[in-house]
Amino acid sequence: MKIGFIGLGNMGAPMAKNLVAAGHDVTGHDIHAPMPDGVIAAISAAGAAKDADVVITMLPNGAILRAVADDLIPAMKQGAVLCDCSTVDVESARAVAEQAAKAGVLAIDAPVSGGIGGAAAGTLTFMAGGSDEAFAIVKPLFDIMGQKAVHCGASGAGQAAKICNNMILGVTMIATCEAFALADKLGLDRQKMFDVVSTSSGYSWTMNAYCPAPGVGPQSPADNGYKPGFAAELMLKDLRLSQQAAEAADADTPMGHLAALLYETFVENEGGQGMDFSAMLPRFEKRHRG
Ligand code: NAD
Repeated sequence: MKIGFIGLGNMGAPMAKNLVAAGHDVTGHDIHAPMPDGVIAAISAAGAAKDADVVITMLPNGAILRAVADDLIPAMKQGAVLCDCSTVDVESARAVAEQAAKAGVLAIDAPVSGGIGGAAAGTLTFMAGGSDEAFAIVKPLFDIMGQKAVHCGASGAGQAAKICNNMILGVTMIATCEAFALADKLGLDRQKMFDVVSTSSGYSWTMNAYCPAPGVGPQSPADNGYKPGFAAELMLKDLRLSQQAAEAADADTPMGHLAALLYETFVENEGGQGMDFSAMLPRFEKRHRG
């Protein structure tokens, strides 16, 4: 396939590399990042998009996605697919899909989970929103870049799945960390805490697979000085998107709201910037009630 790839940063570069390694013809564009080996450089997003069967975008946010879409959609072939893998607000995903439809271009929002490690290993999970036709065209590329692709529904459904998942993740990480900090103060050994909770009804992905306590459970960023992993500021971004969506949809999400506030304080005032999102545990350790 001829693929255009816009946004070759931490995630986009390894994803594009995997497409090249699988024999696809990839033309890329990024305003700062260098092109990975095997990716042909285009001087604009439109240049990377014009002959492509599929254009993949992997950009920082919805405003940038909309600006890039304005540039590249008019350059795309009729019937080609614009596949946005960035994490953006549901409204931007739907607006871009509408703009694409008017231009005779198919669109799919397909944010990912799995992080930089998953992008490099080709083990991402894709959560896709768009038509069956668009999903079928892009599915072989998802199979190269990832290990699972779920077609969640119409445009915006992929972003909806992503922010709901990450709202659970943020809330659960905070709950796991505050429980460890309480257990410490109650004199409970952390290994014992893990042994019980990981096999009891408090178990979760954050406890069992990504334990925030160093030296306990499987290897995780906690064992590496809380170097990300999944950075606290990316968790904050996703929690803010969940709250923006909740506001627009009139959904009551008190735990998501509180999680967004806690990560905001952590990132902006408590040195959490650049730390893994599980560094909430040392934050709680230092704190007192009140
Ligand atoms: P990044 O900042 O490393 O990469 C974004 C790239 O987009 C940069 O190289 C930047 O130069 C480029 N860019 C910005 N504006 C552009 C423009 N107008 N035209 C062309 N290129 C432009 O970010 P990342 O970590 O690769 O994340 C990308 C997306 O994936 C984000 O939406 C993020 O939320 C999501 N995501 C990231 C992770 C992660 O662990 N890093 C995990 C899941 C999802």
